[in-house]
Amino acid sequence: MESRYNPAAIEEKWQKAWIEQGIDKTEENKDKPKFYALSMFPYPSGSLHMGHVRNYVITDVIARLKRMQGYRVLHPMGWDAFGLPAENAAIKNNIPPAKWTQQNIVQMRDQLKRLGLSIDWDKELATCSPDYYKWTQWIFLQFLQAGLAYQKEAAVNWDPVDQTVLANEQVDSEGRSWRSGAKVEKKLLKQWFLKITDYAEELLQDLDQLTGWPERVKLMQANWIGKSTGAYLEFPIVGSSEKIGVFTTRPDTVYGVTYVVLAPEHPLTRQVTTPDRQAAVEAFIQEVAAESELERMAEDKPKRGIPTGGMAINPFTGAEIPIWIADYVLYEYGTGAVMGVPAHDTRDFQFAQGNNLPIQVVIVPPNNDVETLRVTPLQEAYTEPGIMVNSGSFDGTDSVKGKQAVIEYAEKQGWGKARIQYRLRDWLISRQRYWGAPIPIVHCPNCGIVPVPEADLPVRLPEDIEFTGRGGSPLAQLSSWVNVPCPTCGTPAKRETDTMDTFIDSSWYFLRYPDAKNDKQVFDSARVNDWMPVDQYVGGIEHAILHLLYSRFFTKVLRDRPQEGAEGNRNLLNFDEPFQRLLTQGMVQGLTYMNPNKADKDKWVPTSIVNADDPRDPQTGEPLKLVYATMSKSKGNGVAPEEVIAKYGVDTARMFILFKAPPEKDLEWDEADVQGQFRFLNRVWQLVTEFAQQATVKETSIKNPKSKIEKDLRRAIHTAIQAVTEDLEGEYQFNTAVSELMKLSNALADATCKDSPVYAEGIKTLILLLAPFAPHIADELWHAIANQESVHKQSWLKADPDALVADEMTLVIQINGKTRGTIQVPAQADRQMQEKLARESEPAQRYVEGKEIKKVIVVPGKLVNFAIG
Ligand SMILES: [Zn+2]
Repeated sequence: MESRYNPAAIEEKWQKAWIEQGIDKTEENKDKPKFYALSMFPYPSGSLHMGHVRNYVITDVIARLKRMQGYRVLHPMGWDAFGLPAENAAIKNNIPPAKWTQQNIVQMRDQLKRLGLSIDWDKELATCSPDYYKWTQWIFLQFLQAGLAYQKEAAVNWDPVDQTVLANEQVDSEGRSWRSGAKVEKKLLKQWFLKITDYAEELLQDLDQLTGWPERVKLMQANWIGKSTGAYLEFPIVGSSEKIGVFTTRPDTVYGVTYVVLAPEHPLTRQVTTPDRQAAVEAFIQEVAAESELERMAEDKPKRGIPTGGMAINPFTGAEIPIWIADYVLYEYGTGAVMGVPAHDTRDFQFAQGNNLPIQVVIVPPNNDVETLRVTPLQEAYTEPGIMVNSGSFDGTDSVKGKQAVIEYAEKQGWGKARIQYRLRDWLISRQRYWGAPIPIVHCPNCGIVPVPEADLPVRLPEDIEFTGRGGSPLAQLSSWVNVPCPTCGTPAKRETDTMDTFIDSSWYFLRYPDAKNDKQVFDSARVNDWMPVDQYVGGIEHAILHLLYSRFFTKVLRDRPQEGAEGNRNLLNFDEPFQRLLTQGMVQGLTYMNPNKADKDKWVPTSIVNADDPRDPQTGEPLKLVYATMSKSKGNGVAPEEVIAKYGVDTARMFILFKAPPEKDLEWDEADVQGQFRFLNRVWQLVTEFAQQATVKETSIKNPKSKIEKDLRRAIHTAIQAVTEDLEGEYQFNTAVSELMKLSNALADATCKDSPVYAEGIKTLILLLAPFAPHIADELWHAIANQESVHKQSWLKADPDALVADEMTLVIQINGKTRGTIQVPAQADRQMQEKLARESEPAQRYVEGKEIKKVIVVPGKLVNFAIG
């Protein structure tokens, strides 16, 4: 064994040894409790960044701890490998997407292996591989059979120059195509949707089961689902038998409705428009069609609208009210129409003021002079509850109670009914792109929509494709692939050319890992039911909404699907939620040059073009500031994992990441702190090598050491075991756990009983507690103290409660509230004894001498205060 700590010499060696010993393999021993540790799988961009490293190291510490604690652990890794970048690379560099992706996977897998992660690579999967997407397609057909997949027209981004559909990411902030620069248009296409709205209520209710999730993530999901309780009300159109349906959460304000607004896309829009308004309305519809949903909904943007000339009737008042169309009403939300109550809704108030629409007060604050308020013009919308006025027979009713009363009245009159509405909309999964799982459907002129039979799956992506970025989806252009006989009747038919949103691939990958190589079934249900749910999921907060919501949705749908051929009507899954506990790790930030005078987007200056001695903006000459900001390519402030590993070794990189910040908080990359962890591992190395070089390694455990020195050291050892275990089991406070390891190493360095069995116990304990954090050095040192088997096959330690009991405690001696000294007293001394020993103590004697003690205050175990005169 070398006398100096040289990470390069040991890390590769142990990584090889662990593979040979099968340390990372998934145990299937059912006698042990299971633990499924999962990191969100990466997109194979080609290079690993510090954010990845942090994510995977956190999960790895948990996986290693659980193995030592006697669990059988599943800790897999895979690739979220479909998506736009591969296709863009194909257009730019003429590399087939499959080849580009495969190259990146090989590169990133090597980088990952260098991190010493205890991953079972036998479970590896890539969503772009046909043996995976075969089952993605199979799951789509399950949705189809369940009535949860359907086609409907929806708007897409259309590039009129290249004649192709664009993804949102391919449209710049000015609404232009990334390739042609053409102004992007909206075009309606028939597309596939999944009916996630059928599960809206359950997705909301079951958030309560997720006790191991951060509250803020649950809140974001609840807001996304957006349940609101209210009423559906109908406004008859003057001169027509049609009615305009609206949803409102404020039926108590219905007497204050002074207009209704339709979305420009609403099917009634053209019908209600009067001839004199037709040209203007048509122009407005075209104008709005060019805007994105985000633009239309932007809070700071003035709401635009125009009258259609048509009128509707407010059935509650009998009044005729104008019908408008406006950009802020979206056809996909609710009914695509809203009632305007300017007196009691902020947005309606602004809209009415801007367009000279009447404002009618129907709620007044309680305990106010109703008559005055009724006639004073409003300065702003009154949105609080209050007392109903100008509301017919409801005058004087409390508006909160009035909601229900108005709904009951509307139901009786046939004007509407109670309704619950969700903000959540069905999931548009069609993509007019190549690099995704083909939707396994054939369109037949006789049979309509025909699912591809299971035996014919997967519908493979053709490889003889040319990528031009023009003329529509590459799949649609390949007639040899598109034209097929109908699987049912044999008539010439056409394949569906849309591929699936890549979020589909990641909505079920965690279900495939337990049975990743199954080529007969999507998975063996018994095996998945055994391993699921994931016990600890770790990933970025950016996935708090969509990925987690979709995964929960898929889990619930598959739970409701029958398991083919199973006895007794069993379903595919027997659990409701996929992820028991969720940890959203913080970002990794690097020191970044910033020009404070520039706009947010342009203020970052890459380190590589700044003179560190006199940091100035190379464009303007202005002095720059150095701040911490999330590492990114565009800021040029990243730290490459391989450079840190080459310099200090991966164990140091892991220790730094774990020590620098609690896992859920942002982490500031600081070279000095990296060096600090390197020094700490060097100290541990030295302690253990010195110990190992002593000729005799003795018995490493004695329950009842005699000397105080040994007792104190043993207490420090078992305190460390207890503290590290608590830090790892509770909220994963790795940073405080590393501090405890440092304390223990200090206690060992300072120990004056280095030939005692207690010292040997301390050395052994330090290595075992270090193992999940710095696995390579731990295994090297473990073997250095004459062990044969890997440290990672050892059991986690349990603190000895007897060792934790202190013999003595410290009492603070105060005179008139001022601290004058401390004394050690036996731990079992009672209150009286504590006071007695305090009186006899040197500081008390010195200050009290010759004076009268007026009062003594004893805080047992803490302090004794003497009030003297
Ligand atoms: Zn047919």
